[in-house]
Amino acid sequence: MKVIEHIQRATQTLFTFEILPPKKGENINTLFSHIDSMMEFKPSFIDVTYHREEYVYKEMGNGMLKKTVTRKRPGTVGICAAIQNRYGVDTVPHVICGGFSKEDTENMLIDLDFLGIQNVLILRGDPVKSESGFVPHPDGHCYASEMIGQVNNMNRGVYLDEDLPEATPTDFCIGAAAYPEKHFEAPNHETDFEYLKQKVAAGAEFIVTQMFFDNQVYFRFVDQCRAHDIAVPIIPGLKPMATLNHLTVLPQFFHLDIPDVLAKEVRKCKDNKQVKDVGVAWCVQQCKELIDFGAPVLHFYTMSKSELVKRVAEQVF
Ligand code: FAD
Repeated sequence: MKVIEHIQRATQTLFTFEILPPKKGENINTLFSHIDSMMEFKPSFIDVTYHREEYVYKEMGNGMLKKTVTRKRPGTVGICAAIQNRYGVDTVPHVICGGFSKEDTENMLIDLDFLGIQNVLILRGDPVKSESGFVPHPDGHCYASEMIGQVNNMNRGVYLDEDLPEATPTDFCIGAAAYPEKHFEAPNHETDFEYLKQKVAAGAEFIVTQMFFDNQVYFRFVDQCRAHDIAVPIIPGLKPMATLNHLTVLPQFFHLDIPDVLAKEVRKCKDNKQVKDVGVAWCVQQCKELIDFGAPVLHFYTMSKSELVKRVAEQVF
């Protein structure tokens, strides 16, 4: 079933979470045991992230370095299919522009369609770690809105090859990402809203937000979206803080603010066990307020570790 149908049929706020494919060479059973432990909360759908290629430099032994390209977490499509088959839960594979030509995208979408996967979250993707800015594939897309347009075309039976006038339309429900605290490259909130609106105009039917720790940020963001005529459901992204290190790492990687009260509570903790208790209590409070506000779904960033999200879900769902 499509994400949008789950939301339309729901009588209460839904639960969902995001997982990462295992690192290359790791066993999938660890991931399954993580999912197993979340099934009691009846996730409506599960997101699976996509990880683009990275450049790795290997010592050649003669003072020279050899640049190789590797994908450390392959398997997004296979995992989505495996989850739908094993648990009967809908999946939302993330599909990114980075490293993909338009044809690669079309072929991935054909695979997803054949596998019965009806949802996609379309993203631009971050720059390759060794590059300072995002460089699109020469035959690919620069922005998520362009790729959303491609998926929407396929939903109308329009494929890249013009010699396929009778092509079978796909039927994907398309999601897009948004940043209540602004995307780090956007010059200001206003342009970010314009581009978000473009994504919805291109065919995005739901939005998932970057994580935030201050609900006011989300409430304000929803109001601003509505003021910009962005009417689709906006799913808040959440993550319980787990380590003292998160106080610096999360703002650095995800370009967000940690509220002062939370930062002070975390700094008082003697060890990460105490940080986890603080993180869970904070996240539970966030969830309760978001449910009262009428958030359609709560989306948890698990980083493929279920312990804390499970503790939160036990108190909320
Ligand atoms: P876009 O919407 O394309 O926007 C990127 C930037 O360009 C923004 O600053 C925007 O304001 C600007 N912009 C947009 N359109 C235009 C235009 N037409 N002209 C000029 N500027 C424009 N990354 C992964 O690699 N894999 C994942 O699985 C993944 N999952 C994610 C899930 C969620 C819920 C979120 C919030 C992020 C995820 N990311 C993932 C990270 C994401 O790829 C990065 O944040 C990326 O930098 C932006 O992606 P986007 O789709 O929001 O980009």
